[in-house]
Amino acid sequence: MDYAEHVTDLVGNTPLVKLNALTQDVEPLVLAKVEYLNPGGSVKDRIAQRMIEAAEASGELRPGGTIVEPTSGNTGVGLAMVAQRKGYRCVFVCPDKVSEDKRNVLKAYGAEVVVCPTAVPPEHPESYYSVSDRLTREIEGAWKPNQYANPHNPESHYHSTGPEIWKQTEGKVTHFVAGVGTGGTISGTGRYLKEVSEGRVKVVGADPEGSVYSGGTGRPYLVEGVGEDFWPDTYDCGVADEIIPVSDADSFTVTRRLAREEGLLVGGSCGMAVAAALELAKRCGPDDVIVVLLPDGGRGYLGKVFNDTWMSSYGFLSPESQDATVSDVL
Ligand code: PMP
Repeated sequence: MDYAEHVTDLVGNTPLVKLNALTQDVEPLVLAKVEYLNPGGSVKDRIAQRMIEAAEASGELRPGGTIVEPTSGNTGVGLAMVAQRKGYRCVFVCPDKVSEDKRNVLKAYGAEVVVCPTAVPPEHPESYYSVSDRLTREIEGAWKPNQYANPHNPESHYHSTGPEIWKQTEGKVTHFVAGVGTGGTISGTGRYLKEVSEGRVKVVGADPEGSVYSGGTGRPYLVEGVGEDFWPDTYDCGVADEIIPVSDADSFTVTRRLAREEGLLVGGSCGMAVAAALELAKRCGPDDVIVVLLPDGGRGYLGKVFNDTWMSSYGFLSPESQDATVSDVL
């Protein structure tokens, strides 16, 4: 019989899928690493597993302990899934702008969710940063993974994502493209690919226009999960050879095309990474193999990227690209 002992044993080993329609005008082979096929639905399953195991090994997290993290999304799902197996309690702290749907996903895994006001500065005692710090101090046996500073975030990619890509491409990968949020993905995967290829693999970051990684000062931009207004410890600025800034409009247009033209229903940061990969591909030749990482799936964004009214309200939809209604085609 062929089965996993637990769903968390299925984290990683995600497939590479060739992009076809979107790459018609470029010469390289462009392969997407499809991270929504992780059991928690995103690339963050990888870091959750490794951060928890490292904290157990160091004694920071003990049996019966509580995981406290300011997160509303993918990292929370990964942590909650691993915590379920190991019997830890999870308390996630998020700002009130986070949709109820997202909070309910975390609750469905058995996590507790504490909601804090969005409209206060980070140093305010009610901000979600302050509340998560206070809960970590007050709850006995609490441990805060802190994905923005935890070295096991990039390490997880150094030990899993990087070696997987090298093996799957039989060492033929020439470029690796990823969006940058905490920087864990690009720093860990990029460092591995550079080491194993003796510097041959080029590493390219994709960043929302306005974020620090591409020379901005912070927000505002609408793509979620990527870009920062500070430099996290988990970002190794020695790894990326280049950072390509991508506008919200391009990120969302490519995200919608990935669903309609490639059958890949993915999140907005995936469209951003693919937009950067396509720009890079224009400068590359037929022997190049570009691997672009797609962090999560698109179901969490049906009310935004995939919603015509939302897209139009920001001016991201040209009239001809809107959904045809039944009355249009009759
Ligand atoms: N896309 C999404 C949807 C994410 O949640 C994240 C993580 N913040 C990223 C991209 C970026 O990954 P990383 O934190 O490893 O830089």
